[in-house]
Amino acid sequence: MNVMDHNIHSKLFSRAEKVMPGGVNSPVRSFAGMGRTPVFINRAEGSFLFGADGEKYVDYIGSWGPMIFGHAWPPVAEAVKKQLEKSTSIGLATDKEVEFAELLVSMVPGIEKIRLVNSGTEACMTAIRITRGITGKQKIIKFNGCYHGHADPFLVNAGSGALTLGNPSSSGVPHETVKDTLVADFNDLESVSQLFEKNPEKIAAVIVEPVAGNMGCIPPENGFLKGLREITKKHSAFLIFDEVMTGFRLAAGGAQQLYDVEADLVTFGKIIGGGFPVGVIAGKTQWMDYLAPLGPIYQAGTLSGNPVAITAGITVLKELKENPAIYHSLEQKGKQLKTGLDEVFKNTEIPVQINQVGSMISLFFAEEKVETFKDVQKADMEIFAAFFHRMLENGIHLPPSGYESWFLATTITDELIEFTIEAAIKSVKDLFIQKEHYV
Ligand code: PLP
Repeated sequence: MNVMDHNIHSKLFSRAEKVMPGGVNSPVRSFAGMGRTPVFINRAEGSFLFGADGEKYVDYIGSWGPMIFGHAWPPVAEAVKKQLEKSTSIGLATDKEVEFAELLVSMVPGIEKIRLVNSGTEACMTAIRITRGITGKQKIIKFNGCYHGHADPFLVNAGSGALTLGNPSSSGVPHETVKDTLVADFNDLESVSQLFEKNPEKIAAVIVEPVAGNMGCIPPENGFLKGLREITKKHSAFLIFDEVMTGFRLAAGGAQQLYDVEADLVTFGKIIGGGFPVGVIAGKTQWMDYLAPLGPIYQAGTLSGNPVAITAGITVLKELKENPAIYHSLEQKGKQLKTGLDEVFKNTEIPVQINQVGSMISLFFAEEKVETFKDVQKADMEIFAAFFHRMLENGIHLPPSGYESWFLATTITDELIEFTIEAAIKSVKDLFIQKEHYV
């Protein structure tokens, strides 16, 4: 892997800063949490990113989840090229949408109908609206450090970029909007029960990332998701699984299938668009039919079900459906990386905890197991930043935040995992030499 020319990147950043706030179009891309300016990427292929100076990195971001088959996957490229000749947007009902919806319904447990939107944010926002519209109740419960997009009701103790940049609750969000957002602790059923007890008959829904990925990867403890199912049933509240990240990444039927728990509504994004902007709200007919034009809950979108985007999505979903062995192979790769990294840190003074579920993995510089948001807060983010810098110099592009999950693609080979572990060994040596100047 060749080393970048910092000059090219800093020139791009000066231009970017003049025309875009912080030089970026989504906060965590700014690298501000890592104390440096961003690396600009020119193209990507398989598990490689190529920087503006032509330098090459192994990619563990995967566009923040969508690229399960790696970048520029030829079947998507081919299918999209053909679709481009037919139309890029129609704005009317299409045969493609029917194909996409049938495919999704055939793969995900417990769902009968879907509504296509353009992002995970829209999907989660609409899911909440459905539950409020049906129940007539206003309050929702979300979890500390979980992220459900940037719609107003979710910007309370939010994860991802909001957490990385230290603004987990955004300004500009009316107090009236967030006063109905209650916050519980992930992996703590007691905290959920208490909120239901304090707010009887007022809570419409609990929304959760079944495997948290926006405060780093945190698996649900045994019984947590089933417990949420029981509590929500008991209080006649909806359970929403936000599978924007976990959907089709952990299993062809998502986390519902992996943990054998059925939610009432499920949201998807990322992978289902094959690299294009797509979101979905899915559930049983009895709930989904509350949406306009059948029901009183309004939701609409000019580009919803965009034929190019869902052509890409159909191509990816079909491959995942026909080839479930992919998940076993991704799990093996995840384990291999975890084991290798555990080994790198084992004999150092640097305490590390690595959480991994399938192809989601996070490394925390922490003394004790990381199972809750409180544990995440104890992790040393300065060392993470230092490690991130060294890894980048050694050709590995990790997410520029210690609060994000890394994603593995099917294009990550044994050799690339070896290369990553070698890079980690070099990076750790360097950390020791310069221990007093971590960043
Ligand atoms: N939900 C989860 C779990 C996510 O990880 C994200 C984005 O990272 C979203 C919702 C929002 O999706 P989008 O960025 O497509 O709006």
